[in-house]
Amino acid sequence: MKKILVIEDEKDLSDLLAFNLEKEGFRALCALTGPEGLAVAQEELPDLILLDLMLPGMMGTEICTALRRTSKTAAIPVLMLTARGEEIDRVVGFEVGADDYIVKPFSMRELLLRIRAILRRSSQEPETAATLQVGPLAIDTERHQVQVDGEPVELTTTEFKLLFYLSERMGRVQSRELLLQQVWGYNYVGDTRTVDTHVTRLRNKLGAAGEMIKTVRGFGYKLED
Ligand code: CA
Repeated sequence: MKKILVIEDEKDLSDLLAFNLEKEGFRALCALTGPEGLAVAQEELPDLILLDLMLPGMMGTEICTALRRTSKTAAIPVLMLTARGEEIDRVVGFEVGADDYIVKPFSMRELLLRIRAILRRSSQEPETAATLQVGPLAIDTERHQVQVDGEPVELTTTEFKLLFYLSERMGRVQSRELLLQQVWGYNYVGDTRTVDTHVTRLRNKLGAAGEMIKTVRGFGYKLED
């Protein structure tokens, strides 16, 4: 049974989320404050975290940053719960590193679709277990590790999937919508800003090799040596 940690200080919403998650066959863990949420995440290592942005004691952004800094929690997918107008670009951007966000108020059905999509892709293994060499990039599809000129680079699950997807389609432009479908697993048109912020973050992490990810204006991205 997949474990989902809900870090949300609105008790009514937290209860509603837990109720719906359990009804869908997940095990729900709840934390009402930031510090408690971080402690539970480190102890329980959940399969996914629903993380409210505005929390007492510690902001959602700080929790996400802390999770990404520790290797055992670095790859746990984080879905941010934000209010409209909050700094969405920053949240899914390089600084914080959430995998995706959903704006309150959201429908439970949409939230569950997102959760299933994220869990599906974080448990998906590439079919061929091998190391793919693309210029200075070495992509280890078995251990989900990436090296640039022999130096390891820490990527989140989503960043890895995105890079791997582009590397398998070298030189071919992939639209934002297609990336959202194939990498994020969404089967509807979502907000393509998520794709842009992840590309920015991935480029930053790859350093000079990040320049291999080309923007095709108004369309999408491709990887080119
Ligand atoms: Ca809150």
